[in-house]
Amino acid sequence: MNTLASLNLVKSLENSASETPNSQPVYALISVHGDPTAEIGKEGAGGQNVYVRELGLALAKRGCQVDMFTRREYPDQEEIVELAPGCRTIRLNAGPAKFITRNDLFEYLPEFVEAWLNFQQRTGRSYTLIHTNYWLSAWVGLELKSRLGLPQVHTYHSIGAVKYRNMENPPQISAIRNCVERAILEQADYVISTSPQEAEDLRQLISQHGRIKVIPCGINTEHFGSVSKEVARQQLGIASDSQIILYVGRFDPRKGVETLVRACANLPSAFQLYLVGGCREDGADFKEQQRIESLVNDLGLEAVTVFTGRISQALLPTYYAAGDICVVPSYYEPFGLVAIEAMAARTPVIASNVGGLQHTVVHGETGFLVPPRDSKALAIAIHSLLQNPTLKESYGNAAQNWVQSRFSTQGVAARVHELYQSLTLDTFIQEIIKTKKLTPDLERQIQNLLKSKV
Ligand code: UDP
Repeated sequence: MNTLASLNLVKSLENSASETPNSQPVYALISVHGDPTAEIGKEGAGGQNVYVRELGLALAKRGCQVDMFTRREYPDQEEIVELAPGCRTIRLNAGPAKFITRNDLFEYLPEFVEAWLNFQQRTGRSYTLIHTNYWLSAWVGLELKSRLGLPQVHTYHSIGAVKYRNMENPPQISAIRNCVERAILEQADYVISTSPQEAEDLRQLISQHGRIKVIPCGINTEHFGSVSKEVARQQLGIASDSQIILYVGRFDPRKGVETLVRACANLPSAFQLYLVGGCREDGADFKEQQRIESLVNDLGLEAVTVFTGRISQALLPTYYAAGDICVVPSYYEPFGLVAIEAMAARTPVIASNVGGLQHTVVHGETGFLVPPRDSKALAIAIHSLLQNPTLKESYGNAAQNWVQSRFSTQGVAARVHELYQSLTLDTFIQEIIKTKKLTPDLERQIQNLLKSKV
Protein backbone atom coordinates (compact mmCIF):
# COMPACT_ATOMS: atom_id res chain seq x y z
CA MET A 1 0.00 0.00 0.00
CA ASN A 2 1.39 3.46 -0.91
CA THR A 3 1.44 6.53 1.34
CA LEU A 4 -1.71 7.98 -0.22
CA ALA A 5 -3.60 4.76 0.44
CA SER A 6 -2.34 4.75 4.04
CA LEU A 7 -3.47 8.35 4.41
CA ASN A 8 -6.92 7.39 3.17
CA LEU A 9 -7.01 4.54 5.63
CA VAL A 10 -6.13 6.90 8.51
CA LYS A 11 -8.88 9.28 7.29
CA SER A 12 -11.45 6.52 7.25
CA LEU A 13 -10.34 5.41 10.71
CA GLU A 14 -10.78 9.04 11.83
CA ASN A 15 -14.30 9.01 10.47
CA SER A 16 -15.19 5.75 12.11
CA ALA A 17 -13.72 7.07 15.40
CA SER A 18 -15.96 10.13 15.28
CA GLU A 19 -18.98 7.98 14.39
CA THR A 20 -18.53 5.53 17.26
CA PRO A 21 -21.72 5.50 19.35
CA ASN A 22 -21.38 7.35 22.69
CA SER A 23 -18.16 8.84 21.38
CA GLN A 24 -18.57 12.20 23.17
CA PRO A 25 -15.16 12.66 24.75
CA VAL A 26 -14.89 12.67 28.54
CA TYR A 27 -11.74 14.34 29.79
CA ALA A 28 -10.31 14.09 33.29
CA LEU A 29 -8.29 17.14 34.34
CA ILE A 30 -6.32 16.27 37.47
CA SER A 31 -5.08 18.99 39.82
CA VAL A 32 -4.41 17.37 43.19
CA HIS A 33 -3.47 20.56 45.08
CA GLY A 34 -5.18 23.21 42.95
CA ASP A 35 -8.96 23.12 43.40
CA PRO A 36 -10.42 24.92 40.35
CA THR A 37 -13.23 26.27 42.53
CA ALA A 38 -10.96 27.55 45.34
CA GLU A 39 -10.70 31.20 46.31
CA ILE A 40 -7.83 32.44 44.18
CA GLY A 41 -5.09 34.60 45.67
CA LYS A 42 -4.78 32.76 48.97
CA GLU A 43 -1.94 30.48 49.92
CA GLY A 44 -1.47 27.70 47.41
CA ALA A 45 -4.26 28.95 45.14
CA GLY A 46 -3.05 30.81 42.07
CA GLY A 47 -2.49 30.43 38.36
CA GLN A 48 -2.85 26.64 38.28
CA ASN A 49 -6.36 26.76 39.76
CA VAL A 50 -7.35 29.40 37.18
CA TYR A 51 -5.72 27.47 34.30
CA VAL A 52 -7.59 24.25 35.09
CA ARG A 53 -10.92 25.98 35.66
CA GLU A 54 -10.77 28.12 32.52
CA LEU A 55 -9.64 25.19 30.37
CA GLY A 56 -12.38 22.95 31.79
CA LEU A 57 -15.07 25.55 31.16
CA ALA A 58 -13.84 26.30 27.64
CA LEU A 59 -13.67 22.60 26.71
CA ALA A 60 -17.20 22.11 28.02
CA LYS A 61 -18.31 25.02 25.81
CA ARG A 62 -16.83 23.08 22.89
CA GLY A 63 -19.16 20.18 23.70
CA CYS A 64 -16.79 18.00 25.76
CA GLN A 65 -17.56 16.44 29.15
CA VAL A 66 -14.95 17.54 31.67
CA ASP A 67 -14.35 16.30 35.23
CA MET A 68 -11.73 18.26 37.18
CA PHE A 69 -10.35 16.14 40.03
CA THR A 70 -8.81 17.66 43.13
CA ARG A 71 -8.22 16.76 46.80
CA ARG A 72 -10.81 17.53 49.47
CA GLU A 73 -9.27 20.20 51.76
CA TYR A 74 -12.10 20.74 54.26
CA PRO A 75 -14.56 18.21 55.75
CA ASP A 76 -17.68 20.13 54.72
CA GLN A 77 -16.68 20.55 51.04
CA GLU A 78 -19.13 19.04 48.57
CA GLU A 79 -17.87 16.05 46.59
CA ILE A 80 -19.18 17.28 43.24
CA VAL A 81 -19.65 20.88 42.11
CA GLU A 82 -21.12 21.56 38.69
CA LEU A 83 -19.50 24.74 37.32
CA ALA A 84 -21.34 24.72 33.99
CA PRO A 85 -23.17 22.11 31.90
CA GLY A 86 -20.57 19.43 31.14
CA CYS A 87 -17.95 20.77 33.57
CA ARG A 88 -17.62 19.53 37.17
CA THR A 89 -15.13 19.72 40.02
CA ILE A 90 -14.81 16.42 41.86
CA ARG A 91 -13.15 16.34 45.27
CA LEU A 92 -11.56 13.07 46.32
CA ASN A 93 -10.58 12.01 49.83
CA ALA A 94 -6.81 11.59 50.10
CA GLY A 95 -5.24 12.23 53.49
CA PRO A 96 -6.84 14.38 56.20
CA ALA A 97 -9.50 16.85 55.01
CA LYS A 98 -7.44 19.95 55.79
CA PHE A 99 -5.05 22.28 53.95
CA ILE A 100 -1.71 20.53 53.39
CA THR A 101 1.22 22.30 51.72
CA ARG A 102 2.37 20.93 48.35
CA ASN A 103 5.63 19.71 49.84
CA ASP A 104 3.76 17.46 52.28
CA LEU A 105 1.24 15.93 49.87
CA PHE A 106 3.29 13.19 48.23
CA GLU A 107 2.49 10.50 50.81
CA TYR A 108 -1.25 10.83 50.13
CA LEU A 109 -1.05 10.31 46.37
CA PRO A 110 -1.64 6.51 46.40
CA GLU A 111 -4.88 7.23 48.29
CA PHE A 112 -5.80 9.77 45.59
CA VAL A 113 -5.27 7.14 42.87
CA GLU A 114 -7.49 4.63 44.70
CA ALA A 115 -10.18 7.27 45.26
CA TRP A 116 -10.08 8.16 41.54
CA LEU A 117 -10.46 4.52 40.50
CA ASN A 118 -13.30 4.04 43.00
CA PHE A 119 -15.07 7.10 41.64
CA GLN A 120 -14.74 5.79 38.11
CA GLN A 121 -16.07 2.39 39.09
CA ARG A 122 -18.91 3.76 41.20
CA THR A 123 -20.13 6.15 38.50
CA GLY A 124 -19.37 3.97 35.46
CA ARG A 125 -17.73 6.99 33.82
CA SER A 126 -15.25 6.08 31.11
CA TYR A 127 -12.53 8.65 30.47
CA THR A 128 -11.00 9.34 27.08
CA LEU A 129 -7.84 11.08 28.26
CA ILE A 130 -6.25 12.50 31.40
CA HIS A 131 -4.56 15.88 31.61
CA THR A 132 -2.44 16.27 34.75
CA ASN A 133 -1.22 19.51 36.31
CA TYR A 134 1.96 19.97 38.44
CA TRP A 135 4.26 17.12 39.43
CA LEU A 136 2.02 15.71 42.18
CA SER A 137 -0.77 15.08 39.67
CA ALA A 138 1.84 13.80 37.20
CA TRP A 139 2.60 10.94 39.60
CA VAL A 140 -1.12 10.16 39.91
CA GLY A 141 -1.51 10.28 36.12
CA LEU A 142 1.43 7.96 35.46
CA GLU A 143 -0.08 5.47 37.89
CA LEU A 144 -3.50 5.65 36.16
CA LYS A 145 -1.89 5.47 32.73
CA SER A 146 -0.03 2.30 33.65
CA ARG A 147 -3.20 0.68 35.02
CA LEU A 148 -5.74 1.84 32.44
CA GLY A 149 -3.64 2.67 29.37
CA LEU A 150 -5.24 6.11 29.00
CA PRO A 151 -3.48 8.79 26.94
CA GLN A 152 -1.94 11.42 29.20
CA VAL A 153 -1.14 15.10 28.65
CA HIS A 154 0.77 17.02 31.30
CA THR A 155 1.31 20.70 32.16
CA TYR A 156 4.15 21.43 34.60
CA HIS A 157 3.13 24.88 35.99
CA SER A 158 6.57 24.98 37.65
CA ILE A 159 9.76 22.96 37.26
CA GLY A 160 11.66 21.89 40.40
CA ALA A 161 15.05 22.00 38.65
CA VAL A 162 14.48 25.69 37.82
CA LYS A 163 12.79 26.67 41.07
CA TYR A 164 15.50 25.12 43.27
CA ARG A 165 18.43 26.01 40.98
CA ASN A 166 19.91 28.71 43.23
CA MET A 167 18.38 27.58 46.51
CA GLU A 168 20.84 26.61 49.24
CA ASN A 169 18.47 24.29 51.08
CA PRO A 170 15.82 22.94 48.74
CA PRO A 171 13.01 21.02 50.47
CA GLN A 172 13.58 17.31 51.08
CA ILE A 173 10.89 16.36 48.59
CA SER A 174 12.83 17.99 45.71
CA ALA A 175 14.74 14.77 44.86
CA ILE A 176 11.49 12.82 44.39
CA ARG A 177 9.99 15.75 42.49
CA ASN A 178 12.92 15.78 40.05
CA CYS A 179 12.48 12.04 39.34
CA VAL A 180 8.75 12.42 38.72
CA GLU A 181 9.34 15.46 36.50
CA ARG A 182 11.73 13.47 34.37
CA ALA A 183 9.43 10.45 34.18
CA ILE A 184 6.46 12.52 33.11
CA LEU A 185 8.35 14.22 30.29
CA GLU A 186 9.57 10.89 28.96
CA GLN A 187 6.36 8.90 29.48
CA ALA A 188 3.37 11.22 28.97
CA ASP A 189 1.93 11.24 25.46
CA TYR A 190 2.47 14.99 25.31
CA VAL A 191 3.69 17.73 27.61
CA ILE A 192 2.16 21.17 27.18
CA SER A 193 4.70 23.91 27.84
CA THR A 194 3.10 27.26 28.48
CA SER A 195 6.09 29.17 27.09
CA PRO A 196 9.06 28.54 24.77
CA GLN A 197 11.34 29.25 27.76
CA GLU A 198 9.75 26.42 29.73
CA ALA A 199 10.19 24.07 26.76
CA GLU A 200 13.88 25.01 26.61
CA ASP A 201 14.30 24.48 30.37
CA LEU A 202 12.70 21.04 30.06
CA ARG A 203 15.09 20.05 27.30
CA GLN A 204 18.17 21.46 29.02
CA LEU A 205 17.49 20.43 32.59
CA ILE A 206 15.15 17.44 32.46
CA SER A 207 15.40 15.23 29.37
CA GLN A 208 15.94 15.10 25.62
CA HIS A 209 13.15 12.51 25.33
CA GLY A 210 9.40 13.03 25.21
CA ARG A 211 7.10 15.21 23.13
CA ILE A 212 6.53 18.89 23.97
CA LYS A 213 3.99 21.27 22.49
CA VAL A 214 4.03 24.97 23.36
CA ILE A 215 0.51 26.26 24.08
CA PRO A 216 0.23 29.34 26.31
CA CYS A 217 -2.24 29.86 29.15
CA GLY A 218 -5.45 31.63 28.21
CA ILE A 219 -7.70 34.06 30.04
CA ASN A 220 -11.16 35.48 29.61
CA THR A 221 -9.98 38.65 27.84
CA GLU A 222 -13.49 40.15 27.74
CA HIS A 223 -13.86 39.85 31.50
CA PHE A 224 -10.51 41.51 32.23
CA GLY A 225 -11.08 44.24 29.66
CA SER A 226 -14.59 45.05 30.82
CA VAL A 227 -13.98 48.19 32.95
CA SER A 228 -12.73 51.64 31.86
CA LYS A 229 -10.10 53.53 33.87
CA GLU A 230 -12.54 56.32 34.79
CA VAL A 231 -15.21 53.93 36.12
CA ALA A 232 -12.59 51.83 37.95
CA ARG A 233 -11.14 54.86 39.73
CA GLN A 234 -14.57 56.14 40.69
CA GLN A 235 -15.51 52.76 42.12
CA LEU A 236 -12.30 52.46 44.12
CA GLY A 237 -12.28 56.11 45.22
CA ILE A 238 -8.95 56.84 43.53
CA ALA A 239 -8.33 60.39 42.24
CA SER A 240 -8.03 60.63 38.46
CA ASP A 241 -4.58 62.25 38.67
CA SER A 242 -3.03 59.72 41.11
CA GLN A 243 -0.20 57.60 39.77
CA ILE A 244 -1.09 54.01 40.67
CA ILE A 245 1.51 51.24 40.68
CA LEU A 246 -0.16 47.85 40.97
CA TYR A 247 1.04 44.43 42.10
CA VAL A 248 -1.35 41.45 41.97
CA GLY A 249 -0.47 37.99 43.23
CA ARG A 250 0.47 35.76 46.09
CA PHE A 251 2.92 36.78 48.79
CA ASP A 252 5.74 34.40 48.08
CA PRO A 253 9.43 35.43 48.19
CA ARG A 254 9.88 34.28 44.56
CA LYS A 255 7.29 36.84 43.44
CA GLY A 256 9.83 39.61 44.13
CA VAL A 257 7.51 42.02 45.97
CA GLU A 258 10.57 43.11 47.96
CA THR A 259 12.28 44.35 44.78
CA LEU A 260 9.16 46.33 43.86
CA VAL A 261 8.93 47.97 47.30
CA ARG A 262 12.64 48.89 47.17
CA ALA A 263 12.18 50.30 43.65
CA CYS A 264 9.27 52.45 44.87
CA ALA A 265 11.49 53.86 47.63
CA ASN A 266 13.76 55.21 44.84
CA LEU A 267 11.01 57.00 42.88
CA PRO A 268 11.34 60.79 42.72
CA SER A 269 7.66 61.60 42.06
CA ALA A 270 4.38 60.99 43.93
CA PHE A 271 2.63 57.62 43.55
CA GLN A 272 0.46 55.07 45.33
CA LEU A 273 1.40 51.42 45.55
CA TYR A 274 -1.46 48.88 45.59
CA LEU A 275 -0.46 45.39 46.71
CA VAL A 276 -3.31 43.05 45.82
CA GLY A 277 -3.38 39.50 47.22
CA GLY A 278 -4.43 37.70 50.35
CA CYS A 279 -3.23 35.08 52.73
CA ARG A 280 -4.19 32.79 55.60
CA GLU A 281 -2.98 33.84 59.00
CA ASP A 282 -1.44 30.44 59.64
CA GLY A 283 0.22 30.11 56.23
CA ALA A 284 3.66 30.73 54.75
CA ASP A 285 2.46 33.66 52.65
CA PHE A 286 1.30 35.45 55.82
CA LYS A 287 4.94 35.52 57.00
CA GLU A 288 5.98 36.95 53.64
CA GLN A 289 3.24 39.59 53.80
CA GLN A 290 4.38 40.59 57.31
CA ARG A 291 7.97 40.81 56.08
CA ILE A 292 6.86 43.08 53.22
CA GLU A 293 4.79 45.21 55.63
CA SER A 294 7.83 45.81 57.84
CA LEU A 295 9.94 46.66 54.78
CA VAL A 296 7.28 49.18 53.69
CA ASN A 297 7.44 50.75 57.18
CA ASP A 298 11.26 50.74 57.30
CA LEU A 299 11.40 52.52 53.93
CA GLY A 300 8.80 55.10 55.02
CA LEU A 301 6.25 54.04 52.39
CA GLU A 302 3.32 53.17 54.67
CA ALA A 303 1.36 56.34 53.78
CA VAL A 304 1.41 55.53 50.06
CA THR A 305 1.01 51.74 50.21
CA VAL A 306 -2.34 49.93 50.27
CA PHE A 307 -2.58 46.23 51.16
CA THR A 308 -5.97 45.33 49.71
CA GLY A 309 -6.06 41.66 50.77
CA ARG A 310 -7.42 39.05 48.42
CA ILE A 311 -9.60 40.45 45.63
CA SER A 312 -12.12 38.22 43.86
CA GLN A 313 -11.79 37.47 40.15
CA ALA A 314 -15.06 39.38 39.68
CA LEU A 315 -13.56 42.59 41.08
CA LEU A 316 -10.01 42.23 39.74
CA PRO A 317 -10.71 43.88 36.35
CA THR A 318 -11.55 47.08 38.28
CA TYR A 319 -8.16 47.01 40.03
CA TYR A 320 -6.26 46.23 36.84
CA ALA A 321 -8.02 49.06 35.00
CA ALA A 322 -7.38 51.53 37.84
CA GLY A 323 -3.61 50.95 37.67
CA ASP A 324 -1.31 53.14 35.58
CA ILE A 325 1.10 50.25 35.39
CA CYS A 326 1.16 46.70 36.71
CA VAL A 327 4.50 45.35 37.93
CA VAL A 328 5.33 41.62 37.90
CA PRO A 329 8.70 41.55 39.69
CA SER A 330 9.07 37.73 39.95
CA TYR A 331 12.44 35.98 40.29
CA TYR A 332 11.00 32.88 38.60
CA GLU A 333 7.70 32.75 36.69
CA PRO A 334 6.78 29.74 34.53
CA PHE A 335 3.98 31.71 32.85
CA GLY A 336 2.49 34.54 34.95
CA LEU A 337 -1.25 35.00 34.37
CA VAL A 338 -1.23 38.36 36.10
CA ALA A 339 0.79 39.93 33.27
CA ILE A 340 -1.76 39.00 30.60
CA GLU A 341 -4.74 39.85 32.83
CA ALA A 342 -3.35 43.36 33.36
CA MET A 343 -2.63 43.82 29.64
CA ALA A 344 -6.17 42.66 28.78
CA ALA A 345 -7.34 45.57 30.96
CA ARG A 346 -5.22 47.92 28.82
CA THR A 347 -2.65 48.44 31.57
CA PRO A 348 1.01 48.26 30.49
CA VAL A 349 3.20 45.80 32.38
CA ILE A 350 6.73 46.08 33.70
CA ALA A 351 7.98 42.57 34.37
CA SER A 352 11.16 40.72 35.22
CA ASN A 353 12.93 39.35 32.19
CA VAL A 354 12.39 35.72 33.26
CA GLY A 355 10.44 32.60 32.27
CA GLY A 356 7.11 33.01 30.54
CA LEU A 357 7.10 36.79 31.11
CA GLN A 358 9.72 37.15 28.36
CA HIS A 359 7.12 35.87 25.90
CA THR A 360 4.01 37.62 27.16
CA VAL A 361 5.36 41.14 27.72
CA VAL A 362 6.76 42.73 24.55
CA HIS A 363 9.60 45.02 25.62
CA GLY A 364 9.09 48.53 24.23
CA GLU A 365 5.59 47.71 22.91
CA THR A 366 3.33 46.50 25.72
CA GLY A 367 5.60 47.50 28.61
CA PHE A 368 9.17 46.84 29.72
CA LEU A 369 11.24 43.83 30.72
CA VAL A 370 13.86 44.47 33.40
CA PRO A 371 16.45 42.23 35.07
CA PRO A 372 15.07 40.38 38.12
CA ARG A 373 16.13 41.49 41.66
CA ASP A 374 17.30 44.86 40.30
CA SER A 375 15.34 47.54 42.14
CA LYS A 376 17.26 50.41 40.47
CA ALA A 377 16.48 49.21 36.93
CA LEU A 378 12.87 48.65 37.98
CA ALA A 379 12.62 52.17 39.43
CA ILE A 380 13.96 53.68 36.18
CA ALA A 381 11.44 51.71 34.09
CA ILE A 382 8.51 52.65 36.36
CA HIS A 383 9.51 56.31 36.38
CA SER A 384 9.94 56.51 32.61
CA LEU A 385 6.47 55.12 31.99
CA LEU A 386 4.70 57.13 34.71
CA GLN A 387 6.25 60.32 33.36
CA ASN A 388 5.10 59.73 29.80
CA PRO A 389 1.28 59.52 29.52
CA THR A 390 1.35 59.20 25.71
CA LEU A 391 3.70 56.24 25.84
CA LYS A 392 1.68 54.71 28.67
CA GLU A 393 -1.49 54.96 26.62
CA SER A 394 0.01 53.56 23.43
CA TYR A 395 1.59 50.64 25.36
CA GLY A 396 -1.78 50.00 27.04
CA ASN A 397 -3.62 49.86 23.70
CA ALA A 398 -0.98 47.62 22.14
CA ALA A 399 -1.05 45.39 25.24
CA GLN A 400 -4.79 44.83 24.98
CA ASN A 401 -4.65 44.01 21.26
CA TRP A 402 -1.73 41.64 21.79
CA VAL A 403 -3.45 39.68 24.56
CA GLN A 404 -6.75 39.46 22.69
CA SER A 405 -5.01 38.04 19.64
CA ARG A 406 -2.79 35.52 21.46
CA PHE A 407 -4.11 34.58 24.88
CA SER A 408 -7.91 34.29 24.81
CA THR A 409 -9.25 31.18 26.56
CA GLN A 410 -11.27 30.05 23.56
CA GLY A 411 -8.29 30.20 21.19
CA VAL A 412 -6.02 28.40 23.65
CA ALA A 413 -8.64 25.75 24.50
CA ALA A 414 -9.12 25.05 20.78
CA ARG A 415 -5.42 24.20 20.50
CA VAL A 416 -5.49 21.98 23.58
CA HIS A 417 -8.61 20.24 22.29
CA GLU A 418 -6.94 19.59 18.94
CA LEU A 419 -4.04 17.95 20.77
CA TYR A 420 -6.40 15.77 22.85
CA GLN A 421 -8.27 14.71 19.70
CA SER A 422 -5.13 13.70 17.88
CA LEU A 423 -4.01 11.61 20.88
CA THR A 424 -7.33 9.86 21.35
CA LEU A 425 -7.32 9.11 17.65
CA ASP A 426 -3.80 7.67 18.04
CA THR A 427 -5.03 5.39 20.82
CA PHE A 428 -8.05 4.35 18.78
CA ILE A 429 -5.90 3.48 15.78
CA GLN A 430 -3.41 1.58 17.95
CA GLU A 431 -6.36 -0.49 19.22
CA ILE A 432 -7.39 -1.25 15.63
CA ILE A 433 -3.83 -2.23 14.74
CA LYS A 434 -3.85 -4.63 17.70
CA THR A 435 -7.22 -6.19 16.96
CA LYS A 436 -7.27 -6.23 13.14
CA LYS A 437 -3.86 -7.89 12.67
CA LEU A 438 -2.66 -5.65 9.82
CA THR A 439 0.30 -6.64 7.68
CA PRO A 440 3.64 -5.46 9.18
CA ASP A 441 4.18 -3.14 6.22
CA LEU A 442 0.81 -1.41 6.57
CA GLU A 443 1.24 -1.19 10.32
CA ARG A 444 4.67 0.45 9.89
CA GLN A 445 3.25 3.00 7.43
CA ILE A 446 0.40 3.89 9.75
CA GLN A 447 2.75 4.24 12.73
CA ASN A 448 4.93 6.61 10.66
CA LEU A 449 1.91 8.66 9.69
CA LEU A 450 0.79 8.91 13.31
CA LYS A 451 4.27 10.08 14.34
CA SER A 452 4.16 12.90 11.83
CA LYS A 453 0.58 13.92 12.61
CA VAL A 454 0.77 16.27 15.66
N1 UDP B 1 -5.47 36.45 42.00
C1 UDP B 1 -6.76 36.69 42.47
N2 UDP B 1 -6.94 37.50 43.54
C2 UDP B 1 -5.91 38.10 44.19
C3 UDP B 1 -4.59 37.85 43.71
C4 UDP B 1 -4.41 37.03 42.61
O1 UDP B 1 -7.74 36.18 41.92
O2 UDP B 1 -6.16 38.81 45.16
C5 UDP B 1 -5.27 35.57 40.81
C6 UDP B 1 -4.82 36.33 39.58
O3 UDP B 1 -5.92 36.92 38.93
C7 UDP B 1 -4.17 35.22 38.74
C8 UDP B 1 -3.68 34.24 39.80
O4 UDP B 1 -4.24 34.64 41.05
O5 UDP B 1 -5.14 34.59 37.91
C9 UDP B 1 -2.17 34.24 39.91
O6 UDP B 1 -1.62 33.56 38.82
P1 UDP B 1 -0.12 33.73 38.32
O7 UDP B 1 0.09 32.79 37.17
O8 UDP B 1 0.20 35.15 38.04
O9 UDP B 1 0.78 33.30 39.56
P2 UDP B 1 0.82 31.94 40.48
O10 UDP B 1 -0.02 32.25 41.67
O11 UDP B 1 0.30 30.82 39.66
O12 UDP B 1 2.26 31.78 40.84
